[in-house]
Amino acid sequence: MPELPEVETVVRTLESRIKDRKISDIEILYSNIVDCDNREFIERLKGQSFRNFKRRGKYLLFEMDDITLVSHLRMEGKYYILPSDTPRDKHTHVIFRLDDGMELRYHDVRKFGRMELMPLGDYKVFKDLGPEPFSDEFNIEYVKSFMKKLKQPIKQVLLRQDFVAGIGNIYADEVCFMAKLNPLKEADKLSLKEKQSIIDATRKILSEAIEAGGTTIRSYTSSLGVTGRFQQSLNVHTKEYCPKCNSQIKKIRVAGRGTYYCPICQK
Ligand SMILES: [Zn+2]
Repeated sequence: MPELPEVETVVRTLESRIKDRKISDIEILYSNIVDCDNREFIERLKGQSFRNFKRRGKYLLFEMDDITLVSHLRMEGKYYILPSDTPRDKHTHVIFRLDDGMELRYHDVRKFGRMELMPLGDYKVFKDLGPEPFSDEFNIEYVKSFMKKLKQPIKQVLLRQDFVAGIGNIYADEVCFMAKLNPLKEADKLSLKEKQSIIDATRKILSEAIEAGGTTIRSYTSSLGVTGRFQQSLNVHTKEYCPKCNSQIKKIRVAGRGTYYCPICQK
């Protein structure tokens, strides 16, 4: 599943390719991807141009002239920019025809992704999301108060979008590894220093992954499917041996999710 760095990469890539392009027409091939009346969706977006490209947590926000298109890729959603005469495949569900003869195509093998429209600048819907990891609000006072009396394993807390927005299963493991924390350690048992290391590790892991994604943008071809492109920079998730001490990585389940950690480095 795309996490914050991948979504950020998709947003930046699309910005570099389709900023100020106007939508001349829209075709919806699988109606459930769009969260509102399909005809209304088409009518509201036709003639609008892509002005600003933003991200909140794992949501992509396309600010148009007077409305915002919000897109969530969920498990496997991808965007492609292709000439309009490129043959479609069966996983293409929404097509935005652009004024330069290109098409922005939404592709989703599992069909879990969603798109909806929101008033420009009014993103109250995101009020349940926690702070962005790079924002000032994600600080030690915030983490202390969130984790007070919280009996959940730290891995599970990192997955909670109301704690910090954008982290998924892969980067939660990487954050625990970098912070040298056992993923099962309960949040309220973390020392002040460990809480600070959660903040630092989260920012470091995510910014490194975003940087790696930047390479993807520069070597852009026609595919924006970015899931898995950062695998080479992973230390512990799906790995067999610890890159630091060479011990065997342990795989367990935390909150139903496959969780990898080094039993020596993450006591
Ligand atoms: Zn180790």
